[in-house]
Amino acid sequence: MNKYPAYSTIYIENGVENSPVTKRILEKLPKSNLIYIHDYKEVFNRPNQNFQAQKLSPKLILARKKDNFLYKGSSLAPDFGEENFFYNALLLNCPYNCDYCYLQGMYSSGNIVLFVNIDDYFEKTDEYLKRLGRIYLCLSYDTDLLGMESWTGYSASWIEFARLRPNLILELRTKSANWRSIQDIKPIPNLILAWTLSPQNIVEKYEKKTASLPARIKAISSAMDAGWDVRVCIDPILDVPGWKEEYSGLVNILKESGVLPRVREVSLGSFRMNKDYFARVKNLRKDSHIYLSEFITEDGASFYPLSKREEMVHFLQEKLI
Ligand code: SF4
Repeated sequence: MNKYPAYSTIYIENGVENSPVTKRILEKLPKSNLIYIHDYKEVFNRPNQNFQAQKLSPKLILARKKDNFLYKGSSLAPDFGEENFFYNALLLNCPYNCDYCYLQGMYSSGNIVLFVNIDDYFEKTDEYLKRLGRIYLCLSYDTDLLGMESWTGYSASWIEFARLRPNLILELRTKSANWRSIQDIKPIPNLILAWTLSPQNIVEKYEKKTASLPARIKAISSAMDAGWDVRVCIDPILDVPGWKEEYSGLVNILKESGVLPRVREVSLGSFRMNKDYFARVKNLRKDSHIYLSEFITEDGASFYPLSKREEMVHFLQEKLI
């Protein structure tokens, strides 16, 4: 066991000490060492940090988001036909630690920043809704919000916010099995619960700290039983040795589980990453087999060669049909 468990130190930015979210977190983590700071960037953006070392016992940084409450969705992420595709960043970084995660190339720190001023996000979202009529907003775009639900309660707050706003379409994507934390909430039609699924061997090797495949499938089934709309994402498909057997096995397990005919859709995508993040991560993660495959760079992103991408997606499409 790690000598310093996760969140054994909490940094608190000046001005957020009395926020309800800060109080909730401090009640849940009464033994943590508290350090008061002027601005979260002093700690989070410090140079010469070791992302992977910090991931072993991450610190929590409580801060106030001052601007950029909504970002335009990246062209590397599927928009599911939604014209006004946005995401927000309620957290910086993620409780999990996938080998293929671009956050390793984006941030110098493996610690987690939690923005406590959720009401400011709601206010900005209302402004966008008023201006655009309908928006598609991903809540867990570069984190795993449901994985942090027991600390934050944010998924539940967003569901209640969206309940009265049918033109706000939310996606809450996760690799957790933390469905239990929202199971008592009455479902709403405008929130899509999305689970990313990978073969169990890939979960064990490359998706550290995430829930197992069977636990995720069980959570999907329970969520659909309770009336939630569920999206399954087999994304990123990884070019690991024996990938065809691995992903065939995944599809077989999904078919046997009976969840496939009940899900809203299955989204497929092969590994891809912004080219600058990719260059950094490839250099940092010499320990991971993922980066030994052949990659090409096109339009600012790194991918497998086109023939490989097509082969992977077609293979899974065939299996799923
Ligand atoms: S769950 Fe997503 S955001 Fe979290 S470490 Fe894995 S890839 Fe990154």
